Amino acid sequence: MTSCHIPPAGFRGAYRSDDLARAIYSESAGIGRIVPAAVAVPVDADDVITLVNWARERSLSLVPRGSGTSMGNGAIGPGVIVDLSRMNAIDNVDLMSHSIWAGPGALRGDVNRAAHDSGLRFPVDPSSGEFCTVGGMVSTNAAGAHTLRFGATRDWIIALDCVFEDGSRAVISRLAAAPKGIPALDRFIAEVDPKIVSGDSLHHRGVAKDSSGYGIAAYAHTRKLVDLLVGSEGTLVIVVGVQLGLAPLARKRSSVLGAFPSLDAAVVAAATARAAGAVACELLEKTFLDVASAGEADSPVAILDAIPEGTEAVLLAEVEGANDNESDEAARQLATAFEQSGASNTRVALGTSEQHEIWELRHAASPILGRLDPALKSMQFIEDGAVPVDRLADYVRGVKRVLENNELRGVIFGHAGDAHVHVNPLVDVTKRDWRQSVERVLAEVVDLTAQLGGTLTGEHGDGRLRTPLLSRTWSADAIELFQAVKSAFDPAGIMNPGVKVPLANQSPIGDIKYDPLLPPLPPQVRRALDSITDKRAYSTFRLSLIPESH
Ligand SMILES: Cc1cc2nc3c(=O)[nH]c(=O)nc-3n(C[C@H](O)[C@H](O)[C@H](O)COP(=O)(O)OP(=O)(O)OC[C@H]3O[C@@H](n4cnc5c(N)ncnc54)[C@H](O)[C@@H]3O)c2cc1C
Repeated sequence: MTSCHIPPAGFRGAYRSDDLARAIYSESAGIGRIVPAAVAVPVDADDVITLVNWARERSLSLVPRGSGTSMGNGAIGPGVIVDLSRMNAIDNVDLMSHSIWAGPGALRGDVNRAAHDSGLRFPVDPSSGEFCTVGGMVSTNAAGAHTLRFGATRDWIIALDCVFEDGSRAVISRLAAAPKGIPALDRFIAEVDPKIVSGDSLHHRGVAKDSSGYGIAAYAHTRKLVDLLVGSEGTLVIVVGVQLGLAPLARKRSSVLGAFPSLDAAVVAAATARAAGAVACELLEKTFLDVASAGEADSPVAILDAIPEGTEAVLLAEVEGANDNESDEAARQLATAFEQSGASNTRVALGTSEQHEIWELRHAASPILGRLDPALKSMQFIEDGAVPVDRLADYVRGVKRVLENNELRGVIFGHAGDAHVHVNPLVDVTKRDWRQSVERVLAEVVDLTAQLGGTLTGEHGDGRLRTPLLSRTWSADAIELFQAVKSAFDPAGIMNPGVKVPLANQSPIGDIKYDPLLPPLPPQVRRALDSITDKRAYSTFRLSLIPESH
């Protein structure tokens, strides 16, 4: 019996090492499957400390996890999963500082609703916001459509309550000096901090969003440990509390749709939207529009009428104003700018229902993808690249070429204003060489991203998928610093090893959960995981989806 079959002494949360429990945590939203050694669900920070001390004494690795919605396989792993979703308390809004404390397992949507009640909002809005946790958002530096104007999660984190690899606990705040007497911090400050000096080698120049590597560029700029810890994907600390900054609610919003006969025209228009202060500017490429219109017969999307034949790209943009006049006028001006950039049609939406109609298009493809031939799997493995803003069209064209050369269809959409593109290749897993196609496409898109000076992940994080590829897009200096940061914080390598710093011989793609040749998961686990197609179930405490099998 291995040492992880027996729960840590004094641990008060749920702890399971039976096959069913391990199976239900073997998958997340990404393509991977790794069966963990055990699952622990702490009830509070003391439980997390107990777990960390126990794991360190036994050289067991820990894989922190929120809702498991991340795409890069960072929330699955062979160690002990630490499911933080039960630590989901949300404090009252502090009206003086416009901030709120929440447990790591609090859902972004719940935190935002608490803020709304005080006339405030947490403006980072991933599409997964109703079912991802703020701990997960902190750890991936998550972002959303409104990041164009409001930035990513890092910009809104005031303080993090952290448990370190030796079981010590401290609040790291943007507003206070680093606490003394925490060995990980003392090592970092003494050995690594002096080596982190601002420079081009520490960031992807011209890239607007980045969740890859450690936040050394942000740290070089601010010297705030919070900036380093945000985006660290459970590899440096376990976050047990988050203080988030809040913004005032928008007074009035208006939206604009622009249909463009060429991708280049849309890219020019997106730059105009950004410069004009749009709060969001999303791209729907032809591959996306084709899928969205394929569903017309059974679920018509009214706004498709506004998209003329021959459209290569659609932009959906949003502006905000202090009052109706201001935001409506900004939307009209943006529509004119879109026309001057070559839009073949524009639609201005001022009222709530018209805006809803426009933005509905952004969600039109997902249900259709879900109804495709069951052999066709929409796989996320090149799903999050971002490039310097002026290289967006080159990137999209390059990705399309890679997919065509490998005879794969794909759906391309994203955050045009930030040159950040989501791509879902549709892979037929009944074809003999489907896995080789996946590997080739990944390698070719990594080459493309590197050539364009981009990052492999604008918001989803590296996970086990991208970590072995980091040396392709980061400088040797940056890679050396990532290793130094990891060694200072986690010398024994128990915190989510294989993420951010690769293990020896680590390959990006291991078991793929769609592989028909993988041993099937127990039927009750399969049923429970399939219920997660109802996205809210991501945030459900997973052990409650299956019976105990001791
Ligand atoms: C349909 C869908 C839409 C999405 N849309 C977006 C989007 O618009 N923008 C975006 O940025 N992302 C998006 N994502 C990805 C995902 O929702 C985000 O990455 C989110 O931040 C992950 O939160 P989570 O709670 O699921 O974290 P998990 O997936 O459980 O974990 C993510 C990473 O953080 C680490 N971690 C989690 N909690 C902690 C903690 N308390 N302490 C230390 N480490 C921790 C984990 O080890 C892992 O490495 C989407 C995902 C899906 C399925």
